Amino acid sequence: MARYTGPSCRLCRRENMELFLKGERCFTDKCAIKRRNYPPGQHGQSRAKVSDYGVQLREKQKVRRIYGLLEKQFRSYFDKADRMKGVTGENLLSLLERRLDSVVYRTGFASSRTEARQLIRHGHFTLNGRKANIPSILVRVGDVVELREKSRKITSILESLEGVVRRGLPQWLELEKDAYRCVVKSLPVREDITMPIQEQLIVELYSK
Ligand code: SF4
Repeated sequence: MARYTGPSCRLCRRENMELFLKGERCFTDKCAIKRRNYPPGQHGQSRAKVSDYGVQLREKQKVRRIYGLLEKQFRSYFDKADRMKGVTGENLLSLLERRLDSVVYRTGFASSRTEARQLIRHGHFTLNGRKANIPSILVRVGDVVELREKSRKITSILESLEGVVRRGLPQWLELEKDAYRCVVKSLPVREDITMPIQEQLIVELYSK
């Protein structure tokens, strides 16, 4: 699957906020947003008036980048959310949070979604006891995500687990740290997504 391979910090600077794409570095003074808080590029520091469309577009790009998805993938999540009962924007965020890579990141097994995706692809996790190496699997209530026995000595995972308290564990997930597993207690709701996101703008953009 194609993916963005350019500099992550550039994406944060473009969206003018911390998207937390680089793990521990995001919590240090090396964070590019703290040092150069203006959009990248030659005209980054010039003030341009942003249209309504521009605002909606930026919001969509921001969320897409937080979850590390390409446009086509993101659009298919939106279409799925639109077909579901309830509020489309909230459905969209819930679907994105339910991705296995997002769950692995949120429970602290990885310090970023990119790292979580790589660990899953390399077969370090099981879902309900079966090997799961597809980052886009959507978890359901009662699912158990577990770090495989042979992977429990990987330093980066152990270090990342130590940092989970600082990043905050969402209420819909239960981490059993000593057993290296997490249980999905419920589906994520709007309040579980703490990043400043105005999902209604994305709905407006795609409804044009
Ligand atoms: Fe974004 Fe992290 Fe880079 Fe800061 S260090 S700009 S939060 S990716």
